[in-house]
Amino acid sequence: PIQAAKHIWYNGKLVPWEKATVHVLAHALHYGSTVFEGVRCYATAQGPVIFRLRDHTRRLFDSARIYRIDIPYTPDEINAACKEIIVVNGLDKGAYMRPFAFRSYGEIGVAPKTPPPIDTVVAAFEWGAYLGADGLENGIDVCVSSWQRLAANTIPALGKAAGNYLSSQLISMEAKRLGFAEGIGLGIDGSVSEGAGENLFVVRDNVIYTPGLANAILQGITRDTVITLARIHGFEVREQALPREFLYLADEIFLTGSAAEITPVRSVDRIEVGSGKRGPVTEALQSAFFGLFDGKTEDKWGWLERCDDI
Ligand code: PMP
Repeated sequence: PIQAAKHIWYNGKLVPWEKATVHVLAHALHYGSTVFEGVRCYATAQGPVIFRLRDHTRRLFDSARIYRIDIPYTPDEINAACKEIIVVNGLDKGAYMRPFAFRSYGEIGVAPKTPPPIDTVVAAFEWGAYLGADGLENGIDVCVSSWQRLAANTIPALGKAAGNYLSSQLISMEAKRLGFAEGIGLGIDGSVSEGAGENLFVVRDNVIYTPGLANAILQGITRDTVITLARIHGFEVREQALPREFLYLADEIFLTGSAAEITPVRSVDRIEVGSGKRGPVTEALQSAFFGLFDGKTEDKWGWLERCDDI
């Protein structure tokens, strides 16, 4: 179970954790109509900081726009709510955060004449490494899923909506059933897309490759962070379509996400990646990334959002 915190921000009010409930006939529960974010807050010497909060909030509003969900708060109000929920819960050691908005309880039906009201929530709680602390250091075993990713112009991959995660569930559950830590989805054209909840990078001959906008990926904020850090460290980064077999020829592979952070992959379909351990490029990018939070990497981009200035 989730490590409960004291309060959840629910439609502008602080509600006790166990009281933050919704009616069983809420639209989102039946039709997947939630747009959401997964954000991390890190402990630093300056207190807890929310990583790239404004970018996450922007993506939340982008997802809402795609689905014509009219969030009854401004981005600034959501940002303030995110900071407030860290402070009131005393989450100084860091947290995982879920800001989201959904079609709530009203009329039943896919697109009823009177649209259901929009509920807006920000929750935060303590959460460790998504793919395991051991995975961050030693890498994980993944497989290519028998399930492919969302096709263009079906369910939009750029929107981070609850319904998309039916695809992710099929991919991730299959992988775990077969003894892997995570599954990789191919696009319907057969090229590499992403993990069930992570973007994917491949390193070969010191060049870093990652699938792009046309490959049914979520535009990950950690992905963007890694691309930025890699380029300032002098690496060439190419955003392009990758054939499946490129995974088997990689020197290094890693997955990125707010939950997964930067997780090395040590095998794909039981074929070792490089030497079967975390590689030097992955390690360099991990230290650049985690260095943002212990002051070793200068935050030139204003990515760290303090919580004490609401
Ligand atoms: N792809 C999918 C399908 C995801 O769920 C996530 C996690 N939000 C990512 C990629 C990584 O995105 P981010 O780095 O913004 O968390």
